[in-house]
Amino acid sequence: MTRIGVLALQGAFQEHIETLKKIGVEAVEVRLPEDLDGLDGLVIPGGESTTIGKLMVEYNFLDSIKKRAQNGFAILGTCAGMILLANGIPGFDQPTIGILDIDVKRNAFGRQVDSFEVDIPIPELGEKYFRAVFIRAPVIGRTGPDVKVLAHLSDGTPVAARQGKILVCAFHPELTDDLRFHDYFLNIACSRS
Ligand code: GLN
Repeated sequence: MTRIGVLALQGAFQEHIETLKKIGVEAVEVRLPEDLDGLDGLVIPGGESTTIGKLMVEYNFLDSIKKRAQNGFAILGTCAGMILLANGIPGFDQPTIGILDIDVKRNAFGRQVDSFEVDIPIPELGEKYFRAVFIRAPVIGRTGPDVKVLAHLSDGTPVAARQGKILVCAFHPELTDDLRFHDYFLNIACSRS
């Protein structure tokens, strides 16, 4: 059985665990770097990226996750998780794993639209639009040459991307009943390339 860990330092980790169980995966909470041993992939959930980042430094997660990713370990980062994987967060000086060649803009929708939901096309998941739940969400700015953008808002703003086995989105797929985003990640985690 595939074992996927969910970083359980702060934020929406419980919802990811429930979703992973629904797609038939053994989902485990990751609280210490040694919990990463024997996993097929890791989810870094939404929450507060500054808080999660500080805790990752305190518990020595940054290097252990970086090393595993360099060896082909699959990682899904949602919302704050995407921020924590990004190379650059212009205007913010905060710890990140920094293994995904994108820049992110934090809290990109400002106060007027703190949170909203919208159906967006994600061709990799099939024709049916995906309900994307944005909560004080970031967006993707610059993307490097190895990064494939998987989804945009209607104004062209990129909100989901993939680089090798690293998958990120600005929204919260764990807060809908649509399991396709997690299924897509599971396929990445199980692939050999
Ligand atoms: N606003 C949060 C941050 O910048 C992210 C919000 C979320 O993960 N839902 O860290």
